[in-house]
Amino acid sequence: MALTRLFHDSFKALLHAARMQYPRRVAVLPIAHVGHPVLRQRAREVTLFELESPETQGFIDDLVETMRHANGAGLAAIQVHRPLRIVAIEVKDNPRYPYKPNIPLTVLVNPVLTPLTDATFDNFEGCLSVPNLRGVVPRFAELAVTALDRHGAAIEHVVRGITAGTYQHEVDHLDGLLFLDRVQDTRTLCTWDQFKEHFEAAFIERVRTVVTRYGS
Ligand SMILES: [Zn+2]
Repeated sequence: MALTRLFHDSFKALLHAARMQYPRRVAVLPIAHVGHPVLRQRAREVTLFELESPETQGFIDDLVETMRHANGAGLAAIQVHRPLRIVAIEVKDNPRYPYKPNIPLTVLVNPVLTPLTDATFDNFEGCLSVPNLRGVVPRFAELAVTALDRHGAAIEHVVRGITAGTYQHEVDHLDGLLFLDRVQDTRTLCTWDQFKEHFEAAFIERVRTVVTRYGS
């Protein structure tokens, strides 16, 4: 056991040295669009060993970069053709979702979401993998989150309201689900222009109510 650990530590030190010597350039990755079979797969769990590798760490940098480049509120690895249970979430005065409360950059590995109550709210969602379409999806309002962070440390926290909606949207991707699968009234489906013209004002009011009630 000690030998394995020693080997593991030396290997990590070597990898770290290699990374310092050859710093890697962050890349914007192509995003899979609805219809691509990868989006319908169940992404697989990531092992700790795999997570620590420079390859996976570099991939996570690319995932975050791609999310920011596309002004996404979140991005799942599967959306960039890597069926691994990794998602990045970040909302910082997002021009795509100006009404969304901010969320600091969060990387979740092998996340598990557990609703804390039966309470739901109607969320108007869009997706980088479903260009120019939005629709109303019911989401649980309060969730317990367990996951690993990008360095393998345990994450345990509770998310509520609009932020809980974003978490559910991203984690759904890991099970091959798109928001389209959860739209109950298909008459709510609309392009971004039509959303702005016909739905945004009412939705912003609804977001205010949710934020007042749940704090985010
Ligand atoms: Zn999505």
